[in-house]
Amino acid sequence: MSSLYDTLGVKKGASQDEIKKAYRKLARQHHPDANPGDKAAEERFKQVQHAYDVLSDDDKRKAYDRFGTTNGRGAPGPGGVDVDFDLGDLGDFLGGIFGGGGGAGGRGARARRTQAARGADVETEVRLSFEDSLRGAEAKVPVELTVACSECGGTGAQPGTAPVICPECNGRGVRAESQGLFALSQPCPRCRGNGTVIEQPCPKCKGSGSERRLRTYTVKIKPGVKDGTKIRLKGKGEAGAHGGPNGDLIVVTRVEPSPTYERRGDDLVVQVPVSFPTAALGGKVEVPTPEGAVSLKIPAGSEDGKLLRIKGRGAPKLSGSGKGDVLARVRIQVPKRVNKKERELLEELQKVVG
Ligand SMILES: [Zn+2]
Ligand SMILES: [Zn+2]
Repeated sequence: MSSLYDTLGVKKGASQDEIKKAYRKLARQHHPDANPGDKAAEERFKQVQHAYDVLSDDDKRKAYDRFGTTNGRGAPGPGGVDVDFDLGDLGDFLGGIFGGGGGAGGRGARARRTQAARGADVETEVRLSFEDSLRGAEAKVPVELTVACSECGGTGAQPGTAPVICPECNGRGVRAESQGLFALSQPCPRCRGNGTVIEQPCPKCKGSGSERRLRTYTVKIKPGVKDGTKIRLKGKGEAGAHGGPNGDLIVVTRVEPSPTYERRGDDLVVQVPVSFPTAALGGKVEVPTPEGAVSLKIPAGSEDGKLLRIKGRGAPKLSGSGKGDVLARVRIQVPKRVNKKERELLEELQKVVG
């Protein structure tokens, strides 16, 4: 069985300096960041860590030299040859090796935490008159978006200063923690994985690097939009991160109700007052449509509430061409006051129909 000294490639009487030097060299060589996916290197790295952990600690080293083992057997009392990794400062140490964008490991770590991400979609409303919803419009849509801070250009650092390499992780953005034989990488708590920290935050954005800014977009609104129609403007949402695409802006139309028309799909329902004689005998009435009044024939014997269709005079269809219809609803008018002549005629009618 090879000794921990063999693992580090040093003599049994090696000085702490030699041990540290050997460890640095081997750790760099076998570090998982430098050997992605290489299980053998990972195993070797763990052995190197273990050897260094024992040999760099005078008490553990003495126990190891004496008993030739680190598993506690024959140890003078419980915990006497405790080989739990105490790698509290190994993270810093490795950070010194791999951090600061120097080695391949540093670059690897940076690439991992700067994944491209699509920006968020932003939804906003635009108010339209009923007429504009039918004939189309151009609307100015103000949107509040998160943009790079104008003061610091997005760095979050006070102008004239720059973010510095995180002293906690030396720029790696991760902290190596070891539990037993498993080496875990945790996001660095100090810099939250950024690898840099801001010592003097920008006074405008308080270090966030971003600010809310009002942008105004001009949105073309197609004829025929309804209340609640969503118009998607590609790439006008929040900015993407690390080269990711922008989100979209979604404009929801809010259409004021019309005093004349009630929208039903692409059809427009309009109430048409019809006198009792016209409803009974038939006749013609004027019906409003968005493009002007039309004359509508009321069939004889029309009942109150009857719907009469005027083709192609409704709202423009958003999907494809053509228009919906105007639906004229017959509203039979009962006179509230009648003159002498009307009274005579109605009394005559009443005698006939009962
Ligand atoms: Zn850090
Ligand atoms: Zn700023």
